[in-house]
Amino acid sequence: MNYISLEQIKQLATTCKASIWQQAQSAGRDVILYLHWSAGHYGQFFDDYHINIDYDGSIYVSTDDLAEIKAHTWRRNTGAIGIALACCYNATTNDFGPEPPTEQQVETMAQVVAVLCKILDLTIDAERVMTHAEAADLDDYGPATTCERWDLWFLPGVAKGEGGNTIRNKALGHRQQAGV
Ligand SMILES: [Zn+2]
Repeated sequence: MNYISLEQIKQLATTCKASIWQQAQSAGRDVILYLHWSAGHYGQFFDDYHINIDYDGSIYVSTDDLAEIKAHTWRRNTGAIGIALACCYNATTNDFGPEPPTEQQVETMAQVVAVLCKILDLTIDAERVMTHAEAADLDDYGPATTCERWDLWFLPGVAKGEGGNTIRNKALGHRQQAGV
């Protein structure tokens, strides 16, 4: 797992752009960013995600190739980038537990989304930037049904169902503000 700056994320995105678009188009759609939390500890990173974000907003990558196919989102891993917050150990839908998502983590995720969408020519919307909760609902294992996965369904101070909108809106703000 390698520590990486936002600037370096831009470089990785540039490098993988042609191959990840090719994969996505072979699946008949645009590239998609899937947003997760790990359900593990702060400081604990997983190879299933391309990008892991720690509690303090520091960013780690498990690969230099963002087009590598990893196992983050059931049946949706081709032409897709998995990004996870390292948090939510023992979280339930009633209680985030001892390691909730931090403000810094959420901000950094929004910055990473803004940068990736800019470099990969992706509109920041719910079709192309999707939480695992939203993806799971499309595949019948999300909060609307079995709730087997509910990553970012909500956040501290954010209502149930609004986690994805919150991050996308923050990403749109970063895109406008910084011209990323
Ligand atoms: Zn997930």
